[in-house]
Amino acid sequence: MIHRARYIVTGTVQGVGFRPFVYRAAAELSLAGFVQNSPDGVVIEAEGSREALREFKYRLAQSHPPLCRIHTIYEHGIPPLHETSFSIVQSTDAGYGTVDITPDSATCSMCVSELFDPHNRRYLYPFINCTDCGPRLTIVSDIPYDRKNTTMSCFPLCEECSEEYTNPADRRFHAEPNACPACGPSLMLYDNGGRRVQPSDIFQYLCNSIKDGKIIALKGIGGFHLCADATQEDAVARLRQRKSREEKPLAIMVKDADAAGRIAVLGPDELDMLESPQRPIMLLKKYAGSPIAPSVAPGVGDMGIMLPYTPIHHILFFYGSPPLVMTSANRSDEPICVGNREAISRLSGIADFFLVHNRDIRVRCDDSIVVHAAGLPRVQRRARGFVPTPIQLSRSLPDVLALGPHLKSTLCIVTENKAFLSPHIGDMNTPEARDFFHQSIEIMQKISRSRPSIVACDMHPDYYATRVAGQMRMCRVIHVQHHHAHIVSCMAENSITGTVIGIALDGTGYGTDGSVWGGELLVADEEAAKRAGHVSSFFMPGGARAVYEPWRSAAGLLRKAFGDSWGAVAESIGLLPDSMRPEIIDRMAERQINCVKTSSMGRVFDGVAVLLGIRARVSFEGQAAMELEACAAGRSEYCLPFAVTTDNDMIGIDYSPAVRSAVEMSQKGVPRGDISRAFHDAAARSWAEAASLLSRRTGIERVVLSGGCFQNRILLEHMVAELAGRGLKPFAHAHVPANDGGISLGQAVCAAAIVKAEGD
Ligand code: ZN
Ligand code: ZN
Ligand code: FE
Repeated sequence: MIHRARYIVTGTVQGVGFRPFVYRAAAELSLAGFVQNSPDGVVIEAEGSREALREFKYRLAQSHPPLCRIHTIYEHGIPPLHETSFSIVQSTDAGYGTVDITPDSATCSMCVSELFDPHNRRYLYPFINCTDCGPRLTIVSDIPYDRKNTTMSCFPLCEECSEEYTNPADRRFHAEPNACPACGPSLMLYDNGGRRVQPSDIFQYLCNSIKDGKIIALKGIGGFHLCADATQEDAVARLRQRKSREEKPLAIMVKDADAAGRIAVLGPDELDMLESPQRPIMLLKKYAGSPIAPSVAPGVGDMGIMLPYTPIHHILFFYGSPPLVMTSANRSDEPICVGNREAISRLSGIADFFLVHNRDIRVRCDDSIVVHAAGLPRVQRRARGFVPTPIQLSRSLPDVLALGPHLKSTLCIVTENKAFLSPHIGDMNTPEARDFFHQSIEIMQKISRSRPSIVACDMHPDYYATRVAGQMRMCRVIHVQHHHAHIVSCMAENSITGTVIGIALDGTGYGTDGSVWGGELLVADEEAAKRAGHVSSFFMPGGARAVYEPWRSAAGLLRKAFGDSWGAVAESIGLLPDSMRPEIIDRMAERQINCVKTSSMGRVFDGVAVLLGIRARVSFEGQAAMELEACAAGRSEYCLPFAVTTDNDMIGIDYSPAVRSAVEMSQKGVPRGDISRAFHDAAARSWAEAASLLSRRTGIERVVLSGGCFQNRILLEHMVAELAGRGLKPFAHAHVPANDGGISLGQAVCAAAIVKAEGD
């Protein structure tokens, strides 16, 4: 008995080798019919025995190619046509118009084995790829995703490559970046004077240079990297000095998982993500005494490690490269460099050699960063490997473009039930970053196929993105409060709607009262948020300077905790720099000169770190807080005291008792790690208590956690446990960063929900 069924498969199923896979599966099961891309997804009709069809559907769902993300498979029976063969039907243009652009993907294991097979025509060819792997987003210049709209368009396929490209049974069928030594891109090496270097073996020469301590600018997938031998203290120091990056941890690349496991603790969950096609930088707890130079990641407990993800990386390690520092090629805080000329001019004072090639990078994309915490991999920087896969929303919303915050910025476009987040753009302070921001708007409009006339941005009047929003013509602008955006971002990725309790903990965000918020308890839904509590405010002398001079936060905390006697305490622990006296700070606070009031939890962490003698100044935001987390040791005997207060329904979370106790313990000689651990406990417990109080008042049980402080693993894990222990339901970020990289998603969903509610 012959049956025929029609399947519509939705999700990321186009441009990822899905149709060849369907073709092979149908052939193996002796099914007749066809497969075709359509605007609704991939359409398949198949006929054969009932058993074969059942097995076929099982394979669709279970053994599809690695880059596919199947969302739904609709199936219904139709009358058999008694066909005898299975075919891939050419797509209509309408069908190709909806081919999703997929993320760049690490070289797959099949390609790696061909790369090192001396009999293969792509032996050691640095641009080998297939339908399962290779560049995608970063080579796209227009839609639909087709070779002619990528930066591969200038490389006509040779006969053999063309054969692969057009053969449905081949694993390179419609691999848009398909290439070989005869027809594809090639490498070139330049010195720092821009002169071509032509050694007999480029990779041998590069490896030797790296071992000699040289710095190489390496053109990658989404931009240039600067590489140096990660085991040589001198080489790393030179790289830091030339890049003006004093202490911020650098990521490294090692040959394989075994090598990674010798440097840092690598559990099975971390291993999966480390070896995934996304190949992010994983933050792993580093071992003492590993061969990696200490200055790669000074002061912090983690090492950022990734594995090779392009053929060039694989070949370098094949030639015996040592572990490499791999850092985005830019001067500090600028966007990653992508063009050959741009690299040679912007980086000539930094790199000794430039390994470039003639396949252009069209879309900048940094390495993504992932950490495993509270049972899940959690993205801290969302870029290569993850972008532009949309975040699936729980309902359809009006189109909105959200311009993001000011630091760690991303953009987001919401259209229908999808949210397209841009790659990480970074800090919006330099002209380069602002250019990249504007390019990203164009790119994201193409990728999402939407040009929204509603624009969402922050409430801060001085943010660059807020000013841009104000200048957009014919657009309606909706301002979204920073911490409300954080909470809605986390709600969106967890498919939550309705009213929740939000705990937003971060460094800085503009509050509705114009002051600096950052430790906020909210009652929020997608459209609105009400402040229900916050960290009891303290004065921060010098305002924003406290970000880089955390002794200022410490002074503010002491002043609040000790009242009039704070000056003596500050003196006794040598807190203030020589140029500063307690009286001056008191006067600043009394007259409110150059002094802001803040409820920032990030600044509380910074301040406590300073009080424990960790450091008084930092070279990047959050450094003191990271070191406080890194030193937290063992299980604490006790939790530092704190106070949860109520004043006219506003809940206050006051760390003055914790500050007094931390200073006292420190003076008694209690080890810093123990105090740090006890402070983390207090931080988690205080918020859980405040949330529980609010829950009793409101009946709300869902508690949504967001903000940069939740990059702190101890805080996140403790907080989740404390909330659950009180019968509350905690939700945290995983696919979207908890830090300001997730803000644009929250802004977009919030504005879209407001507009939708108006229309309903
Ligand atoms: Zn491959
Ligand atoms: Zn070729
Ligand atoms: Fe924030």
